[in-house]
Amino acid sequence: MSLLKTQEISKAFGKLLAVNRVTLDIRQGDIHAIIGPNGAGKSTYFNLVTGYHRATSGRVLYKERDITRLPAYRRCVQGITRSFQITSIYPKLTVYESVLMALVCHRGVSLNFLSSATGFFREEVWRILEEVGLAEQAHAQGDSISHGDKKRLELAITLGTEPELLLLDEPTCGMSPEETESTMSLVRKLCKDRKITILFTEHDMAVVFGIATRLSVLHQGRLIADGTPEQVRASEEVQKVYLGGAA
Ligand code: ADP
Ligand code: MG
Repeated sequence: MSLLKTQEISKAFGKLLAVNRVTLDIRQGDIHAIIGPNGAGKSTYFNLVTGYHRATSGRVLYKERDITRLPAYRRCVQGITRSFQITSIYPKLTVYESVLMALVCHRGVSLNFLSSATGFFREEVWRILEEVGLAEQAHAQGDSISHGDKKRLELAITLGTEPELLLLDEPTCGMSPEETESTMSLVRKLCKDRKITILFTEHDMAVVFGIATRLSVLHQGRLIADGTPEQVRASEEVQKVYLGGAA
């Protein structure tokens, strides 16, 4: 079943068409990778899906409803979430407090109720921290943990918003091979256990072909291939402009 569709969606920055009439279907339950060279329009496409950018033309449908004009926070409430660069948002909060904040904000509890909310949400925060493997770091300050743990914290925070469609823009950027491996197995687990559909970008083709169940290729803002990883790997145009015989 289709969870999200973009229909002929475009985004222009002045004369540059960063995303050029992209029609794409994101199906429920997929781990869907978007790949393409630097500047291909991947991040811009993500921003059109989350509502961070408004499309110049075209439509975005989520569960058959037109959300093209919905602001980002309303899309988030409906289940479309991206990971946040948490280290720049709450560096001085502990890991535990950061996840608690995400839960409280998402459930719309006012500050007057914060003291009762902390008790109310305690179990849920611990459940999320266990799930992402951060329980032992719960009381560490956000800016003091390792790079890999910061990425786990970003994931933990997005779980606080109960995502159905989770967008991860280069989730393993700057990670060691071990951190990459554990992050991607966590992503796979979230997809399976929580039934979260994943849309991600990644430049490491070993990671992409190791985890993606569906693959789309952007080149200069245009979608040039879309299908199973095997189908995309076999595409001549993709070989020519991107994979270059390496995959
Ligand atoms: P990718 O994520 O695939 O590397 P981006 O979506 O970041 O590509 O960028 C696509 C193109 O749009 C690039 O040429 C980039 O310079 C341009 N671009 C991205 N964001 C902006 C912006 N806010 N203003 C102007 N140009 C932008
Ligand atoms: Mg990008």
